[in-house]
Amino acid sequence: MVVDAGLARRRVALPLLRRLTGCDLLPKGLETLRSLDSGRPALGGYDGVIGHVPSVWQRLIQQVAPTGLRSYGICPFQYFARQVLRLRSIEEPEEIGEVGPVEVGTLAHAILRDVHRAWHAEGIRGDGWRAVDIAASLARAAAPHFHDYARTHPVGYPFLWEVTQARLLDLLSRVLQEDLQDLQDGGWRPILFESPVQADVPVALPTGSETLHCEGQIDRVDWAAARKTYRILDYKYKTSRTAKTLEKNLTLAAVRGREWQPPFYLLMAEQMAQEASPADWPAGSVTSEGVWFQYLAPKWREDEDGAVVTPVAFPGDAWTGSLGARLRATLALVMEHIRSGRFFIAPGSDCEQCDYRTMCRLHHQPSRWRARADHTQVETYRRLRHAEVDKPGGAPATDRTSTGDAASETPPTRKRRIRDRDSLK
Ligand code: SF4
Repeated sequence: MVVDAGLARRRVALPLLRRLTGCDLLPKGLETLRSLDSGRPALGGYDGVIGHVPSVWQRLIQQVAPTGLRSYGICPFQYFARQVLRLRSIEEPEEIGEVGPVEVGTLAHAILRDVHRAWHAEGIRGDGWRAVDIAASLARAAAPHFHDYARTHPVGYPFLWEVTQARLLDLLSRVLQEDLQDLQDGGWRPILFESPVQADVPVALPTGSETLHCEGQIDRVDWAAARKTYRILDYKYKTSRTAKTLEKNLTLAAVRGREWQPPFYLLMAEQMAQEASPADWPAGSVTSEGVWFQYLAPKWREDEDGAVVTPVAFPGDAWTGSLGARLRATLALVMEHIRSGRFFIAPGSDCEQCDYRTMCRLHHQPSRWRARADHTQVETYRRLRHAEVDKPGGAPATDRTSTGDAASETPPTRKRRIRDRDSLK
């Protein structure tokens, strides 16, 4: 309506513009705006529902990163902007010079990796953990990283940079104390550090079976010789005061398509175990104790036991049994949405932190309304967002990720309907 009124006022200018060869930008732009502002209920190309594009699909399945796929679970449009259009945010000039949480997390990863690599090279295991000098090991590992970082990045005021380093060393010292205790208690020995991994993952789509080539990097693998088992560790640095529900429940996060690292790491580690040389990886019949997110989150347990590491597990046998069927259904649903080019906006609590919030028309009411009202496009995704998993000892949850009989579902409560109406969250 707004655009139509604008076009009506520009009756003279528009024909003039059309006569100028090679200058159809404005008419096309106005046409686009008219389409966006229209009251039609169906999502279209300008809303991110672009349909199947074979070349894009082939590129996406040839190199799937678990972190990239996670974007689709957060919001299909975010995935479109990041993985399909490959748009990256521009750094805010006023923020250059601050050492933020992302940079601190990267430093923490690198320092922990080098500390463990050094201990591995020294052959420390078993009772040897008791004699380890954490402070000296940390200082040796951290010095080159701090030096390199300061040489290649703005670090702000020297005093504040000193404080950042001291705080990080203090945190990592506590992390390693808890880590060593855990290694002793479980009979673990770290054997691999920041290893590139890959796997070919089959996925059943309505159009036939496809193979996704997945690539990633595992922070650490621990081996327990006595039990012939391994576990995969992934560090996550968090400055938040409390953990979010999906951070504490990786199974639920995976079933909702919000977290792909744990299930893909299991497959990648399995493939690596089959291919690696015996020197890198224990040979013979081994089991997996699963994936552990090691949250380096000093505030989460401040009021409990004061621990700085919160480990959260994802089961090693996740791809078998009923959970395996749920994971395959989620993966098939997400990949089918990507294959068929459904990249609509899904506003929710993640918008605040999203790099694309200034371009996705999150606050444009007609666009937002279509993303709620076009049930044909969004309904299966909406159900995925509300998928549940069985609680230990509780009744089995409905498999809402399947595209099965809608009539067999429990009717939504009033509270739920209101929430669905307001947001796809
Ligand atoms: S701001 Fe929200 S709706 Fe927009 S792309 Fe990001 S997550 Fe999606």
